[in-house]
Amino acid sequence: MSEPHDRTIQYGNATGGDVVVALDVGGTGMKCGLVRPDGVAVHTERHPTEAARGPAAVVDTILDVAAGLTGKARAGGLTPVALGIAVPGVVDEARGVAVWSANVGFRDVPLRDLAVARLGLPATLGHDVRAGGIAEARLGAGRGAGHVLFVAIGTGIAAAHVVDGAANIGAHGAAGEFGHILVRPDGPRCGCGRPGCLEAVASAAAVGRRYQELAGTPGTAAEVAERAAAGEPVAVRVWQEAVEALADGLATAQALFDVATVVVGGGLAQAGARLLDPLRAALRERVTFHREPRLVAAALGDEAGCLGAALLALDAHGGVPTTMEAR
Ligand SMILES: [Zn+2]
Repeated sequence: MSEPHDRTIQYGNATGGDVVVALDVGGTGMKCGLVRPDGVAVHTERHPTEAARGPAAVVDTILDVAAGLTGKARAGGLTPVALGIAVPGVVDEARGVAVWSANVGFRDVPLRDLAVARLGLPATLGHDVRAGGIAEARLGAGRGAGHVLFVAIGTGIAAAHVVDGAANIGAHGAAGEFGHILVRPDGPRCGCGRPGCLEAVASAAAVGRRYQELAGTPGTAAEVAERAAAGEPVAVRVWQEAVEALADGLATAQALFDVATVVVGGGLAQAGARLLDPLRAALRERVTFHREPRLVAAALGDEAGCLGAALLALDAHGGVPTTMEAR
């Protein structure tokens, strides 16, 4: 394993207290930490996933990192009470199994039981975007809203529908596949095989591809946003296409879920007002009788998934309240 990036936010008055060991496993990196029951990370670390080594090696790294964090907690006078792990893909949360992941290569990995056997702590396995969603809903930009849709727009697009601090999982562990709402039947083919999914039109990757196609020169989504703001016609067009598609998707989501707040996170949200202002206007044009949600930028950055993994573990094993109202 390569040298981890290590950062301690605050030990302070948490010494002697309970903490949850939390890991958010992504395709390229793992964001990990020790999180207090009030949602404050007292210690964070990052490690490379190195998914190309194969799922078995990734599982070994996850368990090594978790064991290392457990040791650090005890060495610091803290008491690790549970372990929370969030992973991408299809997750069977009830059985604690990482069913399938394109990025990490998981195929029916019983990650929760492996973690319990290795660490001797109660463990919870969750989905990365749903974990991020509950963290934003309870601790971040959706705080106090009750009904929240968290939308993560990066290489792909996914969402979590969170009601009173709990995310809807779905009957098969696959709720929230917002990126695969059909928005442009004649549009570009999606990674899932169907043409016209929202993700194929409006993800950060799709924005870059579309710009390359029309302008003949490369541009990341962030560069396209910048060039659009500067008035470059091709960038304006590409950005507008993405915004319109996202607004179509959000209008569908609002018709289904009637949320109070939509929290937009992920790489594309780094564009800030350049994304949210036109998106808010485009969504306003689309809502008729249903109520327009508040549209805000995510507040927790890329630590949302790690904090959410901790919240899932606390909900299952920590005996703490599950809603902000009860805190
Ligand atoms: Zn799709």
